[in-house]
Amino acid sequence: MGENDFSTAAYNQSLSQGKLMGSRCRKCGAVYVPLKPICNKCYKSEMELVEMKGKGRLVAYTIIAVGTPMMIEEGFNREHPYCSGIVELEEGARVPARILGVDVRNPEKFMIGTPVAVEFLKRENKPTIVAFRVCS
Ligand SMILES: [Zn+2]
Repeated sequence: MGENDFSTAAYNQSLSQGKLMGSRCRKCGAVYVPLKPICNKCYKSEMELVEMKGKGRLVAYTIIAVGTPMMIEEGFNREHPYCSGIVELEEGARVPARILGVDVRNPEKFMIGTPVAVEFLKRENKPTIVAFRVCS
């Protein structure tokens, strides 16, 4: 992965190597995961690649019973719902991801602000997926 490669391919490659990469704006310090070549806050394109520690807190989540075709293919459905959410990393980036370790039958038992840690879900012949597991 090149120093200035903020493409989806570069991001997916780092995931397959067990690294969660973000792009950080050299001007204002904003961090983005997945990678962005241009800062959403100050519109500069002076970004640098930084590896995330993979720790954060859950800021939003939903339990999804009727998912995307990809999730249906993986066996999720009304009987087996999954949790999708937004994690705010320690570095400040907000990452949409699958959330693991949630009791999907009693989702109210866990709360916004719960600490989570990154996990990489490897799949055969497909890009690795970013997920976060609730820390117990
Ligand atoms: Zn910026």
